[in-house]
Formats: sequence, structure tokens, C-alpha cells
Amino acid sequence: MHGKKTLLTLLALGLVSACAAQKPARSPAAFSGASALAFTAKAVSFGARPPGSPAIRKLQDYITGQLKKYRCEVTIDAFTAQTPIGPVQMRNIIAHFRGTSGRAVAVTGHYDTKYMPGINFVGANDAGSSTGFLLELARVLSARPFQNDVYVVWLDGEESFGPWSDTDGVYGSRHLAAKWAADGTLGRLKALINVDMIGDRELGILQDMNSSESLRRLIWATAAELGYSHYFLNDPGAIVDDHIPFIQRGVNAVDLIDFDYGPNNSYWHTEKDTMDKLSADSLQVVGDVVIETLKKLDR
Ligand SMILES: [Zn+2]
Repeated sequence: MHGKKTLLTLLALGLVSACAAQKPARSPAAFSGASALAFTAKAVSFGARPPGSPAIRKLQDYITGQLKKYRCEVTIDAFTAQTPIGPVQMRNIIAHFRGTSGRAVAVTGHYDTKYMPGINFVGANDAGSSTGFLLELARVLSARPFQNDVYVVWLDGEESFGPWSDTDGVYGSRHLAAKWAADGTLGRLKALINVDMIGDRELGILQDMNSSESLRRLIWATAAELGYSHYFLNDPGAIVDDHIPFIQRGVNAVDLIDFDYGPNNSYWHTEKDTMDKLSADSLQVVGDVVIETLKKLDR
């Protein structure tokens, strides 16, 4: 995600690893944080994954290979982005799980890692965690249909190549928002939930004031009902992320992001963003909240 325009109050995050014991057995249709973490590790194993790289091509093949196992229709939204380092081929991957209500919801996240020549940036949290989270969500949706159509979308090109600007960053979401405006999909969307940097073992999701207020309140209330209020913080922020191109087109959209990653956010966009900083429990918390929210949006 972009560091621009953040107004964080970084509180000490305590109590983060409680409640790990005595979990009831989960059905195959339930979201598994352990499975999401395993998918994340697989994504990270491809190495640095900037847009257009051989590594992200391999990850695309892996994601689409997984989706072939599930009951969904897969669309590759390919385009050429004009970037400060020249034209770059990008691909959003869209998995469409059909419902019966005629309406739709979308859960999105980016799967590119920031182009950082000279350092070995493997991006476990940013964006391995969203990549793996969405793969686990797709697995769950294949076993457990919803009344609304659900689009699960791996967005390319979230990261900027140079200093962030309106034309450098969120390439994939800008492209998809325009495509969905043109084909009418946006008009069917009840909600769009974007996830980013959700694997930190010290999880703390901030309240993004750029998100739709009603959807943000619904999600925070759902987290409270599940006993997860100490992960869904009261801290306000103003985040520029992949939800913004949809917000700008009037979509009911929210960004779920933990932008306090390591001491003074020191793991963010550095070689320290590695798998050992993540936990299955954190992915479980976000998965439980997203699934419960999808159930509410079905009503
Ligand atoms: Zn980032």
C-alpha cells in the first residue's frame, strides 16, 4: 500500500496472540487461517513479484491453476500500464462465484510486490498475505455458495514504481473500476472489501476514513460480535489503496489494512517483510470477519 496520506495513531498492540487454544474443529467450508498462511508461503516462494516479472507470471499460473479446482469462472483482465519505467504488462485475475440474488459483492487484494531493484523484497505481508487470503477465500466459496455473486479479485500493480502519484499506483484497480463501470458490474455491487497487509502476527486493522462509513461500521460491528474488537481498532487513518478507484465511482467500498508492521512500521517495504512476521491466527481473524460480513450482505 502507499504510505501517502496516513494519519495514524499507533497504539501499542497488546493481547494479540490470545485465544489460540481450544478451537473447535472447522468444516471444509470454513475459512482456515492455517490454509491461508500456507497459500501465502507458496506465493512468497516465487520471490520478488513486481508487475511484468517472470516471478509474477509463475504466480499467475499458480493462482489460475488453483482456481481450476473450484466452481468459478476465471477472467484474466490484461492491460498495458504506462509507468515511470515504461510500459508494463499487468493482469488482474477475477474469479466469479455465481449466486442467485442478481446482486454481487467483491473481495479484492493486490498480488504484486513493490518494484525494489537492489533489495530482495519478497513481500510476505505486502502482498503475500492478500494473495494467500484470497486463495483460501476462493476455496471456501467453492464449498459454500452465497446468494450474492462473489467476485474474488487479485489486483496487479497496486504499488507505485516511483514516488506515489495519481498516475503511478493502483493500476489494476483503476483499470478494473473502469472496466466494471463500462460493463455494468459496478451497478450490481452491494459492497467491495479490499484487504492489504492482513497477515501481521500483531494484527491491528485501522479505521480508514476514506472507506464507506456504513460498510466500515458493519464490519467493525461484525468483528465485535465475533470477539475480535482488539484487532479491529478505533484508530483512524486515511488510506490510499485499491478501494479508492471504486470509492471514486460511488461503490460501497472498504479497505481492511494493518499499517503498523513492525516497530515504527519498519518491516514495511523492506527485506524484513518475511514469513516469520505473519501468523495463521491473524489471517483467521480477517477471514472470519469477511465471511460473516458476506453472510450479512446476503440478507
Ligand atoms: Zn506496499
